[in-house]
Amino acid sequence: MIGKYRWPRDVRCVCMLTVDFDGPSHEIGRNLRPLGINSWGRYSGRRGVPRYLDLFEKYEIPSTFFVPGFDAEYYPAVVKDIHRRGFEVAAHGYLHEAWELGDEEEELLQRTHTILTELLGTPPVGWRSPSGRKTARTMRVLKKLGYLYDSSDKDYDLPYMVRLDGSRLSDMVEIPNNTYSLDDFPWFKFSMTPASEVLAHWKQEFDSLYAENGYFMLTFHPRSGWGSGGPSRARVIEEMIRYIKQHEGIRFFSIRQLADWCLNNHVEFE
Ligand SMILES: [Zn+2]
Repeated sequence: MIGKYRWPRDVRCVCMLTVDFDGPSHEIGRNLRPLGINSWGRYSGRRGVPRYLDLFEKYEIPSTFFVPGFDAEYYPAVVKDIHRRGFEVAAHGYLHEAWELGDEEEELLQRTHTILTELLGTPPVGWRSPSGRKTARTMRVLKKLGYLYDSSDKDYDLPYMVRLDGSRLSDMVEIPNNTYSLDDFPWFKFSMTPASEVLAHWKQEFDSLYAENGYFMLTFHPRSGWGSGGPSRARVIEEMIRYIKQHEGIRFFSIRQLADWCLNNHVEFE
């Protein structure tokens, strides 16, 4: 049943904590050996992801982890653990391809799809572009592979139905992600903002979206360096969870859970 605020009944603001695994695939894809200064991505598999799993379990938060196919091959036990502990695993490129792709794109999407399906025994239904690159061809391939949602676009702050080749689809939804202010990457990579200020900023973003009965989706990278995998930055995530939980009418969703809701009520979404 559609509630008062376009979400399921009693939900005033949908909240999602999403994770881009971004392990050594990120460096391998750029022809860098993931050692020394370029080993940041290995922190994801060794420390960051296990830390997040414990944190999300502690607060009973459903979550979605976007995993490049190469990282699933590199850390199969970790990726299996994400799934075994009840969290969603979705696709995020093979070598975190952040560059323009030609005809090889279909094969790469298919490869990660097969890796994740064979590893987990169930196919992923969601995709997020590595670094935000995508084309109509990307969407055609994802649709053919049976994906239900994409979470890459920056052009809206509510879910909407995907348009492809002139048609509004009723079986695929866009769940936009805001990578300029609701993501750890710009703060820790570019502006080197202290974690305490990032927390204050995210609280302000949450307050605005909560007031609009919108949806609040944060994205973290469990890497060291520019990610939030380490203890002090992960603590910001914990403080954010506690802050959100003080508000009436919030509910945490995995993206799959929100996508299912939108698809079942697609006439309500643009
Ligand atoms: Zn990524």
